[in-house]
Amino acid sequence: MRFNTFIEQFSCSLHSFAGALLTLFFIGAMASTNAHGQSIFTPGQTYFGTNSYIEYIAGNLPIIISAAHGGDISPSELPTRNCSTCVTVADAATQELVRAMGASMQRLFGCSPHIIINRLHRRKLDANREIVEAAQGNPQAERAWNEFHQFIDSAKRAVERSFGRGFYLDMHGHGHDIQRLELGYLLREDELRLPDDSLNRTKYIGFSSIRNLVGTNKQGAPHARLLRGDGALGTLLGQRGYPAVPSKQDPAPKEGDDYFDGGYNTARHSSYRGGTIDGVQIECNFIGVRDSPTAIRRFADSVAVVMQQFLRLYYAFLLPNACAITSVAQTRDHRDNTDTKGVEMLIFPQPATQELRFRLPLDWTGCCEINILDVLGNVMLRHGENDPIAGQEYTLATDVLPSGVYAVRVQSCAPQTSMRATSQKMLRTMMVISH
Ligand SMILES: [Zn+2]
Repeated sequence: MRFNTFIEQFSCSLHSFAGALLTLFFIGAMASTNAHGQSIFTPGQTYFGTNSYIEYIAGNLPIIISAAHGGDISPSELPTRNCSTCVTVADAATQELVRAMGASMQRLFGCSPHIIINRLHRRKLDANREIVEAAQGNPQAERAWNEFHQFIDSAKRAVERSFGRGFYLDMHGHGHDIQRLELGYLLREDELRLPDDSLNRTKYIGFSSIRNLVGTNKQGAPHARLLRGDGALGTLLGQRGYPAVPSKQDPAPKEGDDYFDGGYNTARHSSYRGGTIDGVQIECNFIGVRDSPTAIRRFADSVAVVMQQFLRLYYAFLLPNACAITSVAQTRDHRDNTDTKGVEMLIFPQPATQELRFRLPLDWTGCCEINILDVLGNVMLRHGENDPIAGQEYTLATDVLPSGVYAVRVQSCAPQTSMRATSQKMLRTMMVISH
């Protein structure tokens, strides 16, 4: 390995994962604090509030997902909520859904969304109501409520720091007859029945949970198009087999239809109240979305793709490479001993914990040899070139590696021809393991 090439590639990667290197100093389930007294959370790590009632999985995408009503624990220290207006029915399988969404997004983007889960059953805490109705004056329930929102606030600060703007998805489940997703942008059903021209007026933009996006989106799209035009979330979900309202296919709920227009969390954490994080409440129907682990996984995969399309269309993020190391392939030419720059390979997530994924260059098929080396050059993990690789993606289990910085060396298989000297390719880069 030529040392200057190694350093050059490391420098190219350094900017994108300097944060990951820094996080090595903050490993652990306890959040650290910065000079301003704010908590620092490591992407990929899970943090719990008091008594583990609230869970926060820190991410590194500009996407924040919460599940307020998917909890299933009912500790006896908390009284059962019993106010006359209290709803105590949980949103079945929405906790499982947001975890699946996290996994799908990581597979697609190579990075993780921020996920906040209220693990308490709704009969103990309603994390989508103001504190009085949510916790009914119980101090432990109030503490859990505060921790739920503080974790979302931390996620929002992290997104703003890294990307300047982002998107919040508050995931719920409804029991209405019509099997469609109900997207709540804080606009009532009668408002959604207004013509586009009306919805594009300042008054209705001011009510909207995507208020910031209206004036700042890449396409210059007006409010109504963002709600139900080409490229709107509802339209994109509908195109993937998940009918949604509002959307191009279904612009507004009809008179008499049941419909949820967005709750406390959407109002509090979206750009409706200012800021640069837009948001929506997604009320999921049950059939085909939450009724089996397979349905949940398929829906989660679809939401991930839709979010990728939506963010690419309307936000100026450089995705999906935000968290992946890009390495440059080199063709080794033995005749004059030079390296020629060529195609790219992605390695993600960074930092990695249990596994490291490789997206190989398109012309690398069949097999390759992967070596993970420690700083002294010792081979710590190896995938041999005789083990075939299906397709362009390969996953290497990294749970046996201690936390640290490693060199990665990937070599294409030796071709079975006399052209070996000019056809074998090698990639080198650095990566971080953080447990
Ligand atoms: Zn709900």
